[in-house]
Order: sequence, then C-alpha cells, then structure tokens
Amino acid sequence: MNNQFAVIGLGLFGTALCEELERQDAEVLAIDIDELRTRQVATFCSHVIVADATDENTVAELGLADFDIVFVAIGDSLETSILTTLVLKEAGVKKVWVKARDKFHAKILKKVGADKVINPEWDMGRRVAQSMFDTRLVDYLELGHDMVLTEFVIGLQLNSRTLADLNLLQQTEFQLLAIKRGQVLHNVLTGTMDLALGDILILAGNKHAIDRWLDKQ
Ligand code: ADP
Repeated sequence: MNNQFAVIGLGLFGTALCEELERQDAEVLAIDIDELRTRQVATFCSHVIVADATDENTVAELGLADFDIVFVAIGDSLETSILTTLVLKEAGVKKVWVKARDKFHAKILKKVGADKVINPEWDMGRRVAQSMFDTRLVDYLELGHDMVLTEFVIGLQLNSRTLADLNLLQQTEFQLLAIKRGQVLHNVLTGTMDLALGDILILAGNKHAIDRWLDKQ
C-alpha cells in the first residue's frame, strides 16, 4: 500500500507539499478550515476536506492516527499550530511534522511532541549561504546517449572528506576518471585519498546518475 500523508493548512507551503506529494503518486489528504483554500487545492488533489484540525473529534473521525505522516503547515497562528500538534500527538499520530515560524515556535513544538520541525526560511537561508561557497559543476560536455563528461569543484562542504566518504569509486553508471589538483592530474585513486578545497573531480558517464550523486552532496 502507498504511504498515506495528510497536510493541514493549505497556504503556500502546504499547497506546495500537496502538489509534490501528488506528483510522486502518494496518497494525500489535504485539510484546511478555509473552504476557498481547499477549493484551490482540489484542482490537483483528490482528497480535500474542510475541517478544523484543533478539534479532537474531527481528528478522530478523519482517522488521522492511521496516517504515516501528518504535516501541520499552519504558519499564521502560533496558538493554532501548537494546539493542532498537541491534538494530533494525543490522538496517537506516530509522525507529526510541523512548520515553524521561528526558533521560539520550534522549541514549543518540540516540547509538545512534534517529531520533526521544519523552519523553511531558516533552512533555505542556510542552504543559500552554503551554495554561495559551492562552485560545484564547472560544465557539461555532452557525449551523446545521455553520456557526459563533467567537472566538479570541491568546495568548503566537502573539504577534507575522503573519496570513500563520497562513495565515488563504487559507482556503476559513471566513473571518476581523475582528480586535478593544481597543475597535477591524479589518476591513481584510492578510497583513503583526502579531498582538498579547489580539487577538480573529472567525472564521465550517465548524466542522470551524475546528477543524482551531485544532489546528495
Ligand atoms: P504559508 O505561510 O505557508 O502561506 P499560511 O499561514 O498562510 O501558510 O496558511 C495557513 C493555513 O492554515 C491557512 O490556509 C489557514 O486557513 C489554515 N488553518 C488555520 N487554522 C486552521 C485549523 N484550525 N485547521 C485547519 N486549517 C487551518
């Protein structure tokens, strides 16, 4: 059976969650107290309901305790978001994930039992800062049949990691051909080799497999 997810609160964040979960063929129940919001989401989501998630009876009637993850994306009211989290945990929902507005909100959510707290603005700010140090892909050279030759520059994030840490030598769909360090091209590569800032990894193989590996770094 597919994973079952519920999303409570259909603002910008909740709507994006529902859209992506639907796209991934997950079963999603979208909930909002505001009928207009539910009508918008109903255009792409098959299970949509108008309900007040702070109401214990509603939570029981909807059987939310049986869902794999219930996500609370109520950002505008601290009180409602905290109360909803509490009601869901008391109803026995195993995984309650909650969007927090700030660190104070996040702290209270953890205290009332939230299993995961997401702070989109904070997380995104950190990710953008990291990407500013990240000069990853230099370029692709298309070789045809989805094959590419590409370069990847080691930034701060991967400095001092070994090749074994990056799981690079066991790849089957692409290969690390060499590492360019300064003026030297190293082509005898072992898992214990440490990477240094500015090293250039030269990779060749299936473009999608390389992209998947890059996304994980
Ligand atoms: P975003 O910041 O992601 O745009 P908003 O804070 O604007 O999110 O949206 C929160 C949503 O949560 C609103 O659509 C609001 O109607 C909904 N909401 C607020 N209280 C409840 C509740 N008790 N039960 C269900 N949904 C609620």
